[in-house]
Amino acid sequence: GYRARSAYKLRQIDDEVDLFDHGDTVVDLGAAPGGWLQIAAEAVTEAGRVVGVDLQRIDDLDHPHVETVRGDMTEERTRYYLRKALGVDPDGRDAPSGSADPDPDDGVEPERPVDVVVSDMAPNMTGEYQLDHARSIHLSRQAFDTALELLKPGGDFVVKVFDGPDLADFRDDVAAEFQYVRAYTPEASRKRSSERYLIARGRTDSPVSEGD
Ligand code: SAM
Repeated sequence: GYRARSAYKLRQIDDEVDLFDHGDTVVDLGAAPGGWLQIAAEAVTEAGRVVGVDLQRIDDLDHPHVETVRGDMTEERTRYYLRKALGVDPDGRDAPSGSADPDPDDGVEPERPVDVVVSDMAPNMTGEYQLDHARSIHLSRQAFDTALELLKPGGDFVVKVFDGPDLADFRDDVAAEFQYVRAYTPEASRKRSSERYLIARGRTDSPVSEGD
């Protein structure tokens, strides 16, 4: 069995759009207690790897190719430990884009080694609609920034969002960086009526414009 019923949401998304491939590197944000980690770990197999991040401690999974980081994704130090877990230069985030190819012989991972970023992060709900929506969009944007920082060209991004007035702008911003984005409501989300997932496929590389 799975650690959380939310596992079935990711299973449905994977069934629907064929998100994960054998051998993929996956980052799972808001991963506790670990249901999505289990789905992703099974899908990518031991040829791949999965790194999960959460504020909460995540009990060890039986999968040797899963690693977890405990921390707050809105804090830079957590993103530092995530890069470390991925084998990316943890201080390298501000390397200029469009710079020369990384040295292929230096033994470190390419700066963007990730095939899929998924985020199920959610704020503690207060019941106050405007506040919960704003906090949710804030976390979703944090996940988006992380996706842009770590995803390979062609990589995919799935993020939980709560419907509300700021969702359209967020969706437009995501759409600008991927080949396409769609909203999806898995069966298991139906009773939480405002919960959606944006599924963004094919991160487009954004080379520095050479002018027209
Ligand atoms: N997908 C998970 C699973 O299948 O087990 C369930 C995730 S649960 C719906 C949302 C998680 O987001 C919570 O565990 C919460 O601690 C985490 N979270 C919320 N804000 C966070 C933040 N700023 N940084 C890291 N994790 C956060």
